[in-house]
Amino acid sequence: MKLPIDDLTISALQAAMLAAIAKHGENRTPLNPHMLNPDKLVILAEEFGEVARACTYDEGDHDALIKELVQTAAMALAWAQSLDWPGRGAMVPMVPMESRESPYTRMPRS
Ligand SMILES: [Mg+2]
Repeated sequence: MKLPIDDLTISALQAAMLAAIAKHGENRTPLNPHMLNPDKLVILAEEFGEVARACTYDEGDHDALIKELVQTAAMALAWAQSLDWPGRGAMVPMVPMESRESPYTRMPRS
């Protein structure tokens, strides 16, 4: 059976995830199972917002749209992968966030 997502798109997704890890560190991506879901949502929303920007009449750009869609998908899949899936087994352990302050919202956690 032909898989619906082609290899080029999967490769772009992996490249986007590697770029995010290189830029922010793995612990500061949604791959980190210790990161709170609201922080992961902020990351995903930021990428989604960039998709919207790439669709605007004055800043819209076809290549940027593709790039931001792939980055949004990468963050969403990283978040999904970080969650505890029934029957999937243990995930790769990661170091808990050092700070109690969210690096994304700049708001203290209660
Ligand atoms: Mg982006």
